[in-house]
Amino acid sequence: MLEIVPLELGELATNTYLITDSDTREAAVIDPAGDGQVILAQAKRYYCRIEQIWCTHAHFDHIGGVGELARVLETAPVIALHPADRPLWQLQGGASLLGHFLPTTPVPTLDLAEGMELRLGGTVFEVRHTPGHTPGHCIYYCASAGVCFCGDLIFQDSVGRTDLPGGNWDTLVTSIRSQVFSLPDETRLLPGHGPETMVGQEKKHNPFVRA
Ligand SMILES: [Zn+2]
Ligand SMILES: [Zn+2]
Repeated sequence: MLEIVPLELGELATNTYLITDSDTREAAVIDPAGDGQVILAQAKRYYCRIEQIWCTHAHFDHIGGVGELARVLETAPVIALHPADRPLWQLQGGASLLGHFLPTTPVPTLDLAEGMELRLGGTVFEVRHTPGHTPGHCIYYCASAGVCFCGDLIFQDSVGRTDLPGGNWDTLVTSIRSQVFSLPDETRLLPGHGPETMVGQEKKHNPFVRA
């Protein structure tokens, strides 16, 4: 079974998710936004081992904790990112553009691709490539748990901004309609900012992409 520990971290109140397989206690961190020590302390509290870091995209407010987290772990974690977001990663996630500073961040070790499967113990996740907010944005869908970690693609009653370098409105809308609205209505959406929502609710009420 999948256990989810949400943490709100970093200067832009980004949602970081510590997720673990309840049988094996293998864990992954989705978007470590900051405070590697805080994330590690939570992993200890839940008796799990962080072995993987999965990034939805390379904006600094989602990767700000990757460096510190990688340093405090005993073994180097897998760091997953879509290659189309590598240039952004190399620019420290655009931190300097927005007046922020990012400590040294290790390079990604796993190139994500559309349809790829990631595993956490016995729990399987499907990678869905969802460009629009950034070119390499991806979401992580776990069918068995009925949950999708959707980064800055879609929020409760809102969507990701497309005015930053690499953003594109039409691409964003296409990604939401094809990759999110194709999931079952009762799928929980766990976004990069703000409260969780559900596919059916956003289909009906999201003013930007209502069906
Ligand atoms: Zn972003
Ligand atoms: Zn964000």
